[in-house]
Amino acid sequence: MTTIRVGHLYPDYLNIYADRGNIAVLSRRAAWRGHELEVTGLGLDDEIVPGAHDLYYVGGGQDREQLLVAENLAGKAEQLREAVAGGSALLAVCGGYQLLGRGYKGFHGEEMPGVGLLPLETLAGDRRMIGDVLLECELEPGVRRTLAGFENHAGRTKLDPGAEPLGRVLAGFGNDGESGFEGCRSGRVVGTYLHGPLLPRNPWLADWLLAQALAHRSGGEPPELEPLEDGLEAQAHEVAAGRARARSRR
Ligand code: GLN
Repeated sequence: MTTIRVGHLYPDYLNIYADRGNIAVLSRRAAWRGHELEVTGLGLDDEIVPGAHDLYYVGGGQDREQLLVAENLAGKAEQLREAVAGGSALLAVCGGYQLLGRGYKGFHGEEMPGVGLLPLETLAGDRRMIGDVLLECELEPGVRRTLAGFENHAGRTKLDPGAEPLGRVLAGFGNDGESGFEGCRSGRVVGTYLHGPLLPRNPWLADWLLAQALAHRSGGEPPELEPLEDGLEAQAHEVAAGRARARSRR
């Protein structure tokens, strides 16, 4: 049994749309493989200690909550970058995703500094981009999988040239409603607008993150995780994917 150490950043602030459910999925799927998830909340007064966590998680929030943590997080940027350079994995959703870039300018013009971990920046627009989304991702060369979720953001995220998106938008808005891409991926770091929560209906991504976290823990390669019976999860995925496809036909 391996204890996978998760650092949950700002759980008291960045926690809308039941994003916490993502942690529950990681915990269950780890337990079904005989591993244990040890989740530590990392708030405003807590340090990020490189090497101390195998996986970091940052949820979504409204501009108001993002503003409350942005400076604090930016002040810990160096430690977070060092942790990731050392092989820790990271999943950031929506508001958390925006703060991993160089910065986010909110709806009322608030300038929020970012961590500079992902090559992107975000500017809020007038119209919110809301609804079900379907993506096609290829995290491992040649292995294509769909990711279904829900987006609700005013921020338009622009990736730098050459940045790797998380996926191609099959239905929905994605990063900015026009590039055709969603999210960003850099090594073991994944940022996305998909809430929902994201992982219950996309168990392959949960397993990918667990494997990356286990690789950090062992210092070796990401292990092949024993497959689980994911019938219910596949149905949840299909419902969300169907809604996203229907939306794009309207
Ligand atoms: N406040 C950000 C935006 O509107 C993020 C919202 C969210 O996390 N759902 O773009």
